[in-house]
Amino acid sequence: MSTLMLRTTGITKRFGGVTAVDSLDLEIFENEIVGLLGPNGAGKSTLFNLIAGALPPDTGRLEVFGEDVTGQPAHRMCQRGVARTFQIVRPLAGLTVLENAMVGAFAKTRSVRHARERAEAALDLVGLSEMVTTMASSLTLGHRKRLEVARALASQPQLLLLDEMMAGLNPAELDPFIEILRDVNRQGVTIIVVEHVVHAVMQLASRIVVISQGRKISEGLPASVMSSRAVVEAYLGD
Ligand code: ADP
Ligand code: MG
Repeated sequence: MSTLMLRTTGITKRFGGVTAVDSLDLEIFENEIVGLLGPNGAGKSTLFNLIAGALPPDTGRLEVFGEDVTGQPAHRMCQRGVARTFQIVRPLAGLTVLENAMVGAFAKTRSVRHARERAEAALDLVGLSEMVTTMASSLTLGHRKRLEVARALASQPQLLLLDEMMAGLNPAELDPFIEILRDVNRQGVTIIVVEHVVHAVMQLASRIVVISQGRKISEGLPASVMSSRAVVEAYLGD
């Protein structure tokens, strides 16, 4: 069995009367690619916010490599090796591709030289090294999404949380994007992907977790999860 990287125990987040994440137990092992699926409003983005430290849980516990990190803020979680991308990709428009990626690196280093090296390595991994001097605002959507991955990678994460990165990509952009994520994983980065493009998740993930109304309703190998009755019903109810 490989090393347990992340564990949530009974993690819960409420917004007023809505329980967005409801007593969720999750285990993520080193070097996995886990697909996190669920209908709209299931609590996927909220769960990412909890793991990344953008939101504190109301109850429950979060552990990274066995250490209790419950309630740690985002910059601490980043230092603990957790990085996330956002559903809506908005690079800093006045900056180049390289400068945007360096912003991610500055989460972990104050050295401009180190930030630059880490940003360049990340851009290389996502296939944007020819575009370092391009203004980020002039990138296509596919390249903006790659830049968003590079910005997260520049902080040298051990765990990368990808929130709907493939939405809006055309088929010609999708296949290389999936290949990039496989490369990132081969470099030793554990990945959790939230995605509406279910077939892309099926290609990528070694394991799938399905949540609905903040609760885990199924988990396991992609093929068995997707044929489970609870999952079919959750999606039909979407
Ligand atoms: P998903 O990403 O799976 O679509 P979300 O985590 O965005 O789901 O949302 C889960 C539930 O929590 C939804 O009912 C949503 O309306 C609610 N929610 C999420 N964020 C907030 C917030 N900041 N304030 C109030 N309600 C929220
Ligand atoms: Mg979401």
